[in-house]
Amino acid sequence: MQISIWDHAKYVTDKANPRPEMRANLKRLADAGVKRVLVYWPYLEDHDGYLEAAAEAGLQVEPWIHPERMMKHPPRRVLTPEQLQAMRRNLDIELRFPCPNHPEYRRQVLAIAEDIAAKYGDRLHGLHLDYFRSANFICCLDYPCGCEACRAERRRYFGFEMPSETDLKQPWYIYKETARLAAHLHALVSDLHALAARKGLNLSMAARTNYANSMDIFAKPVWGLGPATLEGQDWTQWADDGIIDEIIPMNYHPVLERFADNLDAHLRLLAGTRVQYTSGVGVYSSMGVVPPDDVRARLKMLRDRGVQGACLFNGTPFTDEYLQVVREFAQA
Ligand SMILES: [Zn+2]
Repeated sequence: MQISIWDHAKYVTDKANPRPEMRANLKRLADAGVKRVLVYWPYLEDHDGYLEAAAEAGLQVEPWIHPERMMKHPPRRVLTPEQLQAMRRNLDIELRFPCPNHPEYRRQVLAIAEDIAAKYGDRLHGLHLDYFRSANFICCLDYPCGCEACRAERRRYFGFEMPSETDLKQPWYIYKETARLAAHLHALVSDLHALAARKGLNLSMAARTNYANSMDIFAKPVWGLGPATLEGQDWTQWADDGIIDEIIPMNYHPVLERFADNLDAHLRLLAGTRVQYTSGVGVYSSMGVVPPDDVRARLKMLRDRGVQGACLFNGTPFTDEYLQVVREFAQA
């Protein structure tokens, strides 16, 4: 089984001289059988040093591209004080994430990827997309964005710029708001795929584990875990359309039955497509902690179903116990 790791690279303590720590950590991962690191690019200060250390360890690298954290001037969703107040009152959150419908979003994210590919492309295995979606479907639909791009599109499709409370509940409104969000993200991913193909790079993505109707959504309806279909991240469509090479759903559920439900859904959704399926496995995530034996059970489940790749997510460095589990499966 090919094991990859999402690497936050937060372990570096000596910021002035990070290379020895990066080299030691990457060698430790490679020695356990890890083949690839998807590294959180915005946290890394020494990109060259990281790539050098990974090359020494024999690891493939894919920089982890996160639009909100990497855009210099992210076009934030435009919300009125009343909308923000209502969001806080009703959902206990205040989300002001960038608007994927804004042309600046596509322009800036593509420029970021082009810059990485130009500077480091010959040392990379691929590019890895994270958070290519809106942040939260309840917020998007109930608190619509008032940026100039959203207003102009609504003016064309509906004849108004901002919906009334009644419009918000109409099927034609919900359909078109969801569809135009999906179309903007599809166009961006399509551009990125063309760029990756030109440079000979793999285009992988961290995907919402909940594509359409996972039970997770009911467990955490506000911060939630999708569904991808309402957040503009229709990764099954992206697979059908050949605009992504590898899909890694973030299947972090600490309950094994839920992990299995999600896994079976992912296999059903991607059957017959040419996309490479790699299952994300949570070790320590916002969903909870999965102990080493439970990670073992998940990797065994993947192997039993013929899944060739797993990608482990851990907010902290891996302990030896986890690396022992990696060793057992990486060599099998
Ligand atoms: Zn907008």
